[in-house]
Order: sequence, then structure tokens, then C-alpha cells
Amino acid sequence: MQVIETIAAFRAARSRYPRLGLVPTIGFLHEGHLSLVRRAKQECGAVAVSIFVNPTQFGANEDFTGYPRNMERDLSLLRDAQTDLVFTPTPAIVYPPGHDTGVEVGSVTSVLEGAVRPGHFRGVATVVCKLFNIVQPTRAYFGQKDAQQTIVITKMVRDLDMPLEVVICPTVREADGLAMSSRNSYLKVDERHAAAVLRRALAAAEARHAAGERSGEALRQVMRETLATEPMGVVEYVSIADRQSLTELDSVAADGALASMAVRIGKTRLIDNVILGA
Ligand code: AMP
Repeated sequence: MQVIETIAAFRAARSRYPRLGLVPTIGFLHEGHLSLVRRAKQECGAVAVSIFVNPTQFGANEDFTGYPRNMERDLSLLRDAQTDLVFTPTPAIVYPPGHDTGVEVGSVTSVLEGAVRPGHFRGVATVVCKLFNIVQPTRAYFGQKDAQQTIVITKMVRDLDMPLEVVICPTVREADGLAMSSRNSYLKVDERHAAAVLRRALAAAEARHAAGERSGEALRQVMRETLATEPMGVVEYVSIADRQSLTELDSVAADGALASMAVRIGKTRLIDNVILGA
């Protein structure tokens, strides 16, 4: 496994691989990230992972400085997962003085996470575009955990004719259903217990949808009611939205809907989602 900091050295190393999968991350890796790495390795024969805590995707009041970091542990996990290349640039390498270009993906970035975190998806799309240009992957792997991000990246690739395939992988969960996330490390013991309510709320919506409920508002209400059973949870949004446009649905069509939510437990902001009717 080669760990590379500069763009020139990465390009030189990349030229050895006819097919290469890419897994972009902001580090502090867990089994969710590793499931993407293993799939990329299996499908492409070689895998590159980027570890870059991208400052431009964090808002002014967000956790950029405090975001958990452990490069030594991350590299050890990646070595065990047979990673070929790890790209670990510094902010000065990604954003040299004078950098002043950004990628705006349009209306799918202004709702849900984008409404609560203005500028977040511009930061994500710009850095992922740069990573695609540097790494030139055959395929790039993203987790369903960040559902809106998968929609934004898929749209960027299509709209800008980027020559690669986007692969979306299932959300990996803890035993009680909590979606794995680097931010789960912020949770105190009682908060960690409370956090399982997100999965319960999604399961309640899944059950109601499976029983034939097609009203978007009724399904949102089921999620709100389940979330309300956990006093530590403060709901930011619950959504039943179209899977492509992310517009809120009055009624769920035959091809399903994206059920998603953001909930604060103490100081920690958690997101989760499922596709209804998948
Ligand atoms: P992050 O480091 O949080 O930016 O995540 C890097 C990639 O891993 C993104 O594509 C995430 O969607 C994905 N990912 C994060 N958590 C999970 C999870 N629990 N299951 C599957 N993929 C995940």
C-alpha cells in the first residue's frame, strides 16, 4: 500500500493500474467505509482511498476542527483491506492560494441537508470533482448512508460527462440498527442508546409503507411520532421525497421514495435514510 500526499506523485502511481476504484472519505474509518473499499477492490482489482477532511464542506458553526482524526489507525485498517493507494493531501495541496472555482449542482443541493447546511454540497461536489480529476477512477464508491450526496454526485457525473461509474453501496449498521458514522464517536453512553430511535423511525415508515400507506404526510407523521418517543432527540427534519428530484411527496408512487431524517442527540447531529419500496 502506497500512501501519497502530492498530486504529481499520485498521478505517477496511478498510471500503473488499468482499472482503479476510488473511495473518497474524510477519515476516522469504520466498517461502513471498509465495505466500500472491499467492494471497489473486488470489482476493479485495485482501490484508492482518499482521506481528506475537506474544510469547504463544513459550515462556520460545524465540527471541522473537532472532527475525529486518527491517520495511523485508518492506514492500518486500509492495509488490512488490501488497499493499493491512499491519497492524503493537505488543504494547501487541494486549495492552493488563488483557488477560486466551485461546482454547483443545482436544485437537489438546496433541500434537506443543503437547506440546513448552506454551501455543504458545493464543498462536496468541488472536492469530489477534483478527486475524480486527480485519481481518474474507473468507478467511484459512495454509501447510501449519505443519500443526498449520492444523488448530487450522480447528477454531477451525468451533467458534466465525467468518464466514470458511480456505485452506491448499502448502509452498514450497528447491531441495534444505528448507521455507522465517524460522528457516533461523539455520543455519550445514554446518547448512544437514544440514537437507535432513528432506525426505529425509519422501520416504522417502512412497515406502514409495506402495509399500503402511500400518503407522504402520513409516513412523515409516523416517523415524527416514533422520534418523539425519545426525549433526547431533537428533530431537524423528516422527509418523504422523490428519489431523483428530492421534492417532498404528497403521495408515494410505485417506484418508491426516499425516507430520510436529521436528528440532534445532545450536540451530535445524526442523519439516516431508507428507500421505501426498494
Ligand atoms: P465520510 O468519510 O463520512 O465522508 O464517508 C465516506 C464514504 O463512506 C461516503 O460515501 C459515505 O456515504 C460512506 N459511508 C459512511 N458511513 C457509511 C455506512 N454506515 N455505511 C455505508 N457507507 C458509509
